[in-house]
Amino acid sequence: MNIMQNSAASEVARRRTFAVISHPDAGKTTLTEKFLLFGGAIQLAGEVKAKKNRISTRSDWMAIERQRGISVVTSVMTFEYGGHVFNLLDTPGHADFSEDTYRTLTAVDSAIMVIDAAKGIEARTRKLFEVCRLRDIPIVTFINKMDRETRDPFELLDEIEKTLALDVTPMTWPVGRGRSFAGTYDLGRNTLRGLDSEETPRQLSGPDDPQIASFIPADEASAFRDEVELARDGSKPFDLDSFREGHLTPVFWGSALRNYGVRDLINGLGAYAPSPRNQQAASRMVEASEPKMAGFVFKIQANMDPNHRDRIAFLRVCAGKLQRGMKAKLVRTGKPISLSAPQFFFAQDRSVADEAYAGDVVGIPNHGTLRIGDTLTEGEELVFRGVPSFAPEILRRIKLQDAMKAKKLREALQQMAEEGVVQLFLPYDGSNAMVGVVGALQLDVLAERLQGEYGLPIAYETPRFSVCRWISSDDEMELDRFIEANRSGMAHDLDQAPVFLAGSAFLLQYEQERWPKIAFADVKDYQ
Ligand code: GDP
Repeated sequence: MNIMQNSAASEVARRRTFAVISHPDAGKTTLTEKFLLFGGAIQLAGEVKAKKNRISTRSDWMAIERQRGISVVTSVMTFEYGGHVFNLLDTPGHADFSEDTYRTLTAVDSAIMVIDAAKGIEARTRKLFEVCRLRDIPIVTFINKMDRETRDPFELLDEIEKTLALDVTPMTWPVGRGRSFAGTYDLGRNTLRGLDSEETPRQLSGPDDPQIASFIPADEASAFRDEVELARDGSKPFDLDSFREGHLTPVFWGSALRNYGVRDLINGLGAYAPSPRNQQAASRMVEASEPKMAGFVFKIQANMDPNHRDRIAFLRVCAGKLQRGMKAKLVRTGKPISLSAPQFFFAQDRSVADEAYAGDVVGIPNHGTLRIGDTLTEGEELVFRGVPSFAPEILRRIKLQDAMKAKKLREALQQMAEEGVVQLFLPYDGSNAMVGVVGALQLDVLAERLQGEYGLPIAYETPRFSVCRWISSDDEMELDRFIEANRSGMAHDLDQAPVFLAGSAFLLQYEQERWPKIAFADVKDYQ
């Protein structure tokens, strides 16, 4: 290996690409700000705050996002700390669920699960966790808001273990709780850190070290000692392999708001979370350390200027080095694409970076050339698997107010579907197009964009269908027979794949039983 390759390998090794999963209000935004402060990206931390306070006018926010003070779009924040490069991929923070969230989780190598210490596991945390589990994404847990009234720490650990069927290993232990919360104790090293501003924690002799008394009242100190012993005796030792396989979560405690425990957490992420993984393509496994660039698009964000069809495609680099100005091959079409203006997301100074390695995400401006699931390479015919489409939970038929604009609507819907705003289903019987979404908010986004960018006011109608599945069969004749028999419930998706629409889960099941040779899929990988 020559020096160039060596340095590329070490660039890859120091990267950690992750997401934060949590229920709204658990403290994701506050934690993100603190991460960025650690990374020296103070300005950007301010912007995260501004988003919450709805005062920003940054042009890449959708009107709907401004209205509601929520983040509809997925953004990327890169910062450096402790020798590592962290790529934090933000998932939408509102309670509603969208496909963006799923897709973003296909582009990370690990996740931080933030739990509110007073509430424990909440609905959305659980749902996001399940998506992570599907892909065996390793999870680091942060139990936040320890400065407030909390539930019993053992009870919280127990809840994670039982409800998520996940082994837990506390890495630190809270020193005091609520008003007297004063820091974190490292169970492995016997060190105590007060505020996160203490870079080096103080070494103690053990949980009964008299120095504890200067942090918390005497009665709490004795309870602390007992708890530390119980925590050590009662929990499994940390096992890196088990964590990397997604079976065990290391647990850290803290208060993002009051600056406790975040340094432990980020150090833990740097030390234990995996560097960019190897990525499965249809033909072979692509290793992160390979010299040739390869990556996939997991997210498209429309530009805010309604007069331009500009889009930013977010590409997760999986191998090699992406450089400004290079030519790549768009495998779906076989055509070259010039990466003349890729955006790098180093929070400190965007202009510094002009190359990206495996694990990094770059934004590629384009006019509709790139689609979700697209693979870019330096020439090889690779197709990465795993940016999925999920069978929508909500189906709506589009009603156009001005029938003269049907063609324009078709084009607009095609574009919106390519961007992944909604899924598009065109019925075989030629009736109006249907859209499908996982979260209802996606419908609002679509209506707003059709109006704002295309001047197309639309309304939604609830069709008689409520469930859909991609169908396939090894027996082509049988598939044809099924389609013939169910013609009024058949549609094409964006890629011309056949989709069966059913009136209810019950009716779907009925058909599944009647047609055993037909496979009904609720997830489809982009081709
Ligand atoms: P998100 O919805 O998960 O992004 O949550 P935020 O970061 O916006 O936090 C929700 C609320 O909890 C805000 O009012 C925060 O100030 C507050 N908060 C966040 N972290 C802590 C913490 O560690 N302690 C306390 N007391 N409040 C916190």
